[in-house]
Amino acid sequence: MLRSIFFRSRPPLLREGGDYAFPNIQSRFQRLRAIWTILRAVSGDTIDDHMRRIPILLILIIAPIAALTDTYPRQPGVDAIHYIFRLSLLTTDANEIQGEATVNLRVVTDGLREMFLDLTSAADGKGMTVVGVTSNGQEVAFTHQSNRLKLPMPAGVKSGQDVSFTIRYHGIPAEGLRLIPNIHGDRTAFSENWPNRARQWLPMVDHPYDKATGEFIITTLPVYQVVANGLLIEQRDLPGGLRLTHWKQSVPISSWLYALGVARFAMHNVAMVKNVQLQSWVFPQDREKGYEAFEFHGRRSLEFFSERIGPYAYEKLANVEAAGLNGATEHASSIFYGERGVTQGRGAVVHETAHQWFGNAVTESDWDDVWLSEGFATYFNLLYTEQFDGRDAFVDGLKRSRTQILQLEQRMPNTPVIHRNLDDMRNVLNQFVYQKGGWTLHMLRGLIGTETFWNGIRDYYQRYQNQNVSTDDFRRVMEQKSGKELGWFFEQWLKRSGEPKLTGSWNYNSTAKKVEVELTQSQAGDPYRLLLGIGIFQTTGALPRVETVDFNGRRGTFSFDADTPPADVVLDPGTWVLMEPAQFSKK
Ligand SMILES: [Zn+2]
Repeated sequence: MLRSIFFRSRPPLLREGGDYAFPNIQSRFQRLRAIWTILRAVSGDTIDDHMRRIPILLILIIAPIAALTDTYPRQPGVDAIHYIFRLSLLTTDANEIQGEATVNLRVVTDGLREMFLDLTSAADGKGMTVVGVTSNGQEVAFTHQSNRLKLPMPAGVKSGQDVSFTIRYHGIPAEGLRLIPNIHGDRTAFSENWPNRARQWLPMVDHPYDKATGEFIITTLPVYQVVANGLLIEQRDLPGGLRLTHWKQSVPISSWLYALGVARFAMHNVAMVKNVQLQSWVFPQDREKGYEAFEFHGRRSLEFFSERIGPYAYEKLANVEAAGLNGATEHASSIFYGERGVTQGRGAVVHETAHQWFGNAVTESDWDDVWLSEGFATYFNLLYTEQFDGRDAFVDGLKRSRTQILQLEQRMPNTPVIHRNLDDMRNVLNQFVYQKGGWTLHMLRGLIGTETFWNGIRDYYQRYQNQNVSTDDFRRVMEQKSGKELGWFFEQWLKRSGEPKLTGSWNYNSTAKKVEVELTQSQAGDPYRLLLGIGIFQTTGALPRVETVDFNGRRGTFSFDADTPPADVVLDPGTWVLMEPAQFSKK
């Protein structure tokens, strides 16, 4: 996801239903219930037995774990496996869609009574109306209220059992799927599910934690082409002058990554890159500019990330020009880019391609950890710059990023990178998540070394590809790879707000032949632990000798042997530490 800088405000938050009255309590309760269930399974005791005997200490351990989640009401009793969305759209002048969704679910908890899918209710002429639901060919009773479609599970279901529902519905999407003319006046339909708008037109578990495979089977007029996730399975003409297009995504993905585009397109098979078909889909009027916007960096970034991180996870990669979008969205295997950028020959191709690895294949299971997606895409974009444009361009990028972070501190103080129980999805993105998340990866690389960093990244990707992760999962991989305890590092940079500020001075002690450095951490709050490079320039213009100090107190004095007085001494000459500009000079 990359927003145009001109697009500051987000669309209004979805109207959530009554279940949101006590969201924290609900999700905490579910977590606690899940933990009790585990305890019971381990010991054979009942929940009540444990409630009587549970030591206070254990409750104290559980409590903070339960607190660190966004407020979406997860359903641990059921797992979405596969969705098939059969949709008819743009067949008339109306913006109504006709839908039939088949949802395959796996039961996780014996005796589960019901589950719900997110689906926006009809209101003010928009939203979705459910006509009927069947399971095993039988109509089943359902309720659709407050944007939740509640479905009854068959009596006595067992863990591991698969249950399938087919939902017939129709309506005009208020959001999530835009049925609008593009900049050339042609009718189109483009999805934008980010972050929780799949429910506006698709019945789904609309949260990143539950990945599933899926299919779009689209009926529309033959003048349009259809692009979606995965592989094109079939295209055929139907009676009545219509055409059916069938796409199938065989790799599980989160709900915001489902993508559908219907328009008049020019499609270009760019190349096979590492055995992956790279495609461009642009409006025919923008053919030249569109291909120019996508193809050079699209090809090179797909190659670079495949080589450096691990094999691409999906069945193709399409870069798609989309109507009504500002910036771009990284949908798995079908990235959408706003048409205005594309017609000017630009698109955030590298950032969105990096997301295919981080965000899409390895996905945060909680919106609190959205930096695992955006911070990674931001830093991997910079790593691409380092690879192809050199170290200076890379450092320039880091410095611009640092300026953005420090400016945002003025407007949004007390905001850590990891959200604290995010409950308002309008706040899921901010520049800390992107820029400070990216800087945290850069500082991690500085701490453990470039080679260990890349080894850890490869291992993290391999281990968690097509799964969900937390920040702790990432930390554990990097700890194993580096042999270093990194809890303090992740806590300091991701859970604490603000940045360190250093003041200090240096002088040359000609008697002792030493460079002496005095430093103070002058920011509010506790001192940071900083692995800080101190650059000693013997002569102006030469490369500095860099001494790294572990500075973790309010004040520190450090001295380094030097036979002759240095020309200058600077802090962090390699640009490895995120901090406010230091006030540091010769005493
Ligand atoms: Zn992004």
